This record gives sequence, structure tokens and C-alpha cells, in this order.
Amino acid sequence: MGEAQARGHRATRPARAALVVAIDGPGAAGKTTVGTEVARRLGYAFLDTGNLYRALAWLAIRHGVPPTDEEGLARLARQARMRLVPPAAGSPGPGTILVDGEDVTPHLRRPEVEAIVSQVSRVPAVRAALLDLQRRLAREGGIVMAGRDIGTVVLPDADLKVYLDASPQERARRRYLELQGQGREVTLEQVARELAQRDQTDSQREAAPLRPAEDAVIVHTDGLTLAQVVARVMELVQARLA
Ligand code: C5P
Repeated sequence: MGEAQARGHRATRPARAALVVAIDGPGAAGKTTVGTEVARRLGYAFLDTGNLYRALAWLAIRHGVPPTDEEGLARLARQARMRLVPPAAGSPGPGTILVDGEDVTPHLRRPEVEAIVSQVSRVPAVRAALLDLQRRLAREGGIVMAGRDIGTVVLPDADLKVYLDASPQERARRRYLELQGQGREVTLEQVARELAQRDQTDSQREAAPLRPAEDAVIVHTDGLTLAQVVARVMELVQARLA
């Protein structure tokens, strides 16, 4: 993995200690939007770890490995050479993911990936294969990492752990608007059903289930604007930097 390149996400060197910030929470709670903005303000790197699992799900589809084939998935995860390429300076977004040299980013939000990603990510050997990579990226600090198990498993010593939450209705509404904005033809009911299914698989699996770390600050975002959520997380960051 191109760890040096991933570190290039940071726009400027932070003046003070470079923190490790973990943002966990269920789907469509705002982790990526909030995490990207917080990282931008701090001049930190941002890593959306869901994209690593999505990249593997895409690879499984490409190679005809069914999501029930745990051995096959584990092999794919161990063999895939993943590389993160940061966005060009000043451009928004989390950058691109290369797998064995190929840019898989355009495929990560496809419905067929969405449909199996939680099944792929529940396999312990798949998670183990991605653990080292995630930890290496955080080694020097100055990173915001978003996912499901960052505060509990990947980076238990993170300087700040935030658990972003929102009601299922609010999350479905946000994801629905996002998909509509991309021109995707979906109904609100469909989006709500898919999110609920993923929530269930992610929180009931044995390996690194979705749950807040004991020392996480839980931020309920219903009724808050994006700016308010970012301001709240920045307050928490500033308190750690003080
Ligand atoms: O955050 P996102 O919706 O892109 O994540 C896709 C899926 O990847 C989640 O539903 C979950 O199954 C898995 N995931 C995970 N651990 C993480 C991040 C994502 O299991 N740290």
C-alpha cells in the first residue's frame, strides 16, 4: 500500500501534535462528509476505511468469488495490492483506490457492491488482512479515519474517538438524497431497507462489530446541520490539542 502517498492527503503540516481521530458509526451517519471536512481544516489525511472493504467486494464480484466463500475472500484480501492515491491539492473527495494498479474507485458505490460488502467484511480473515494497512497509515498521526471499528479495534489508542449517529429514518433520508443527486433511481423504502440490513449485519457480526468504543464521544446528528456537526467535532479536537 502506498502509505507515503496516502499521507500526501494533508494539505499543510499541522502546527501542533498531529492527532489520530477515529470516526465510527452506522451507514449514512455522515462519517465521510464530516471526516473529510475536519481533516481538511486540520491539514490531516483522511481515510474512509469502508472503501477498502468495498474494493474487496468489487474484486470478489470480478473474480466470481461468492460472498459465502470465506476462504476465497480471505485469499483475495491477502493477495490484493491496495494503494491509496490522495486527491489533487485543493480538490474535494477522498482520493482514489488502486487495486493491483487498477483504479477501482468508480465501482465502489455500485448497487452490487453495496449488496455484498457487509457479507465480505464480516469474514475475520478479511478484516485481519486489512488491519495492518490501516494501522500503518495512522502511525505518524495527523489522520482522520472513518469506519465501524476504528475506535474499538483498529486504533484503540486514538487521541479522539467520535461515534456519529443518527436515526434510521434520518440516515435513509440522507442516503436517498445523495443517491438521487447522483441520478440513481431508488425509492426511499429501498434505501431504508438496505441500510437496515447492513446495520444488522455490521452490528451483529462476531468480528469487530459496530459499536461505540467505551471512550468514544457519541454525537447524535438528527436535527443538526453539517456545519454544526463539524463544529462539534472541531471543538473536541481543539480540546485534545489544548
Ligand atoms: O462506510 P461504508 O458504508 O462505505 O462501509 C461499507 C461497509 O464496509 C460497511 O457496511 C461495513 O460492512 C464495512 N466496514 C467495516 N469496517 C469498517 C468500515 C466499513 O466492516 N471499518
